[in-house]
Amino acid sequence: MTVRALFLDRDGVINVDHGYVHRPDQVDFVPGIFELVAAATTRHWSVVVVTNQSGIGRGYYGEDEFRDLSEWMRARFAENGGNIAAVYHCPHHPRDALPDYRRACPDRKPEPGMLLRARDDLGLDLAGSVLVGDRPSDLEAACRAGVGARLLFDPEGRWPLPDEAGVARIRALPEVIGWLDGGGG
Ligand SMILES: [Mg+2]
Repeated sequence: MTVRALFLDRDGVINVDHGYVHRPDQVDFVPGIFELVAAATTRHWSVVVVTNQSGIGRGYYGEDEFRDLSEWMRARFAENGGNIAAVYHCPHHPRDALPDYRRACPDRKPEPGMLLRARDDLGLDLAGSVLVGDRPSDLEAACRAGVGARLLFDPEGRWPLPDEAGVARIRALPEVIGWLDGGGG
């Protein structure tokens, strides 16, 4: 049996993107995110976080801090009826990173590596899955991976929308629940 995934970018979708967030006291959850993750959990979708974390590569914080914050977030979702199945992150950056982290990584969005690993690890049906991101690079990664529905969370209309089937702009996170219930908001 295959499982559908709700892929979530982290910064700008789960938490307000204040820039290189790495501690709980920096986290402001985006309105509607708990409702959305709980709705996906109830519907037996796997919620998978896919996040570029070049702040690690830049030396702003470490893998331990990232992992601790991920666990803290998981616990907040659990308190609100939501399950995070997995968290994938890419610490690399092609230019602006410490030598150990400076490389063009196939995981860094818009590359699709994290999504493809999640598919293999969790047995996901990507064509039946949904991704929510706040940047066109999130949607591009999902397009390359073959994710069926690619939603740009862009309340202020900052970004142009790719002219592709399966793409839509959303202005509030609970709108995504319509896609979980069978195609379209
Ligand atoms: Mg983002």
